[in-house]
Amino acid sequence: MAIGFAAAVTLGLQFVLTARFRRLSAPFGIDIVYYFHRYMAVFAFLLLLGHWLLLRLVYPESLGAADPREAPLHLSAGRAALLCFALLVLSSIWRKQLRIAYEPWRVMHVLLSVAGLTLAVVHLQGVGNYSHLPGQALFWQIFLVLWIMLIIYVRVIKPARMLRRPYRVDRVRRETGSACTLVLQPQGHDGLRFAPGQFAWLTLRASPFAFREHPFSIASSATTSGQLEFTIKALGDFTATLPNIRAGELAYLDGPYGAFSIDRVEADAFVLIAGGVGIAPIASMLRTIAERGDRRAVLLVYANRHRDGIILREELESLRARLDLRIVHVLQEPQSLPGAEAGLISRELLARVLPQQRKALQCFVCGPTPMLRVAEQALHALGVPMRQVHSEIFDLV
Ligand SMILES: Cc1cc2nc3c(=O)[nH]c(=O)nc-3n(C[C@H](O)[C@H](O)[C@H](O)COP(=O)(O)OP(=O)(O)OC[C@H]3O[C@@H](n4cnc5c(N)ncnc54)[C@H](O)[C@@H]3O)c2cc1C
Repeated sequence: MAIGFAAAVTLGLQFVLTARFRRLSAPFGIDIVYYFHRYMAVFAFLLLLGHWLLLRLVYPESLGAADPREAPLHLSAGRAALLCFALLVLSSIWRKQLRIAYEPWRVMHVLLSVAGLTLAVVHLQGVGNYSHLPGQALFWQIFLVLWIMLIIYVRVIKPARMLRRPYRVDRVRRETGSACTLVLQPQGHDGLRFAPGQFAWLTLRASPFAFREHPFSIASSATTSGQLEFTIKALGDFTATLPNIRAGELAYLDGPYGAFSIDRVEADAFVLIAGGVGIAPIASMLRTIAERGDRRAVLLVYANRHRDGIILREELESLRARLDLRIVHVLQEPQSLPGAEAGLISRELLARVLPQQRKALQCFVCGPTPMLRVAEQALHALGVPMRQVHSEIFDLV
């Protein structure tokens, strides 16, 4: 029973972790909070399974009949809760292998988690052990009230706030590297303040209550107030619709989030490593450094397959004039751009291009997950302390 209680409370806490409280996620970055949620949820599910298994092995009579028509409601509710959480964990860990698209998965995730916890509470109340004394009853009542308030905050209050702070699409700009930049203008409010490198959840062609939002890094300069830009590469259903978005359409934002920012560190020089559309948060950093007239040295290592895949190619070149910026293009097809390094980002390549003094470097890495891993390990091996290597993971789930 103790294991069952621990599981219920840990599962309840998952709603706090995923409520995107900015103060809670700010020290770590929301990607880390989501990873923590993933491990904690699996741990909670194992506790739940342990609770059921122990009872099944040691006190089988306490489980009652397996047939829901004969079993008391609270025992069937416990079994149904276990099933909900099993489906939740399996569909999350193996979502891609099971070929479940992200959006239906997300709806299913919310419904199963709310149903699972509601059934678990019915089970707890029905069993009645350790919940009937006044102090115990009060604890569970507070737990329940806080949980319901949290759901109302996330599903009603937050979207209602977003509805009151809409944005309009000013234009969609085609970029080099088959990406598009979506330019948004706040309507009737002053937009949001962000640090260069942060991201926001974007809703387009849907109400904020529909939860059809996608995370995108803010690519514009943090010094520009009002207008915001997002540079997006077509990789799936939603991102492929961007070229069809028309000026004047409504958009909603939830943000800013993220700990991936040059404003959070002290540095004499920066190393920015990007792969493909991973250039988006890094573009915001470069534009902000330029707008601020900051002359600290910046090395940009930017990996792509081919010259034509280099997003914002011309603007990056023009930024050289305003910054102490060195750009190293890394291309799998290097013959397409004279002077480019050949291949992928690797330890050997970074050893060649990084400055000799590495202890004080602050490094920001954003790109495909395998590139992140290689770059993080290489930077560490080359003498950059791990706490000075910051990564943004675009693949949250
Ligand atoms: C912090 C962060 C910043 C990002 N910044 C940028 C950026 O600046 N530019 C850019 O082009 N891309 C960015 N991405 C990636 C972008 O969010 C996904 O490519 C996009 O959501 C894919 O949606 P889709 O429907 O087009 O593709 P799908 O084929 O439906 O999805 C492809 C994969 O993207 C992920 N994904 C899809 N929808 C969501 C969602 N709502 N929330 C989280 N993940 C999702 C899933 O892992 C999914 O398997 C960022 C991602 C994160 C987490």
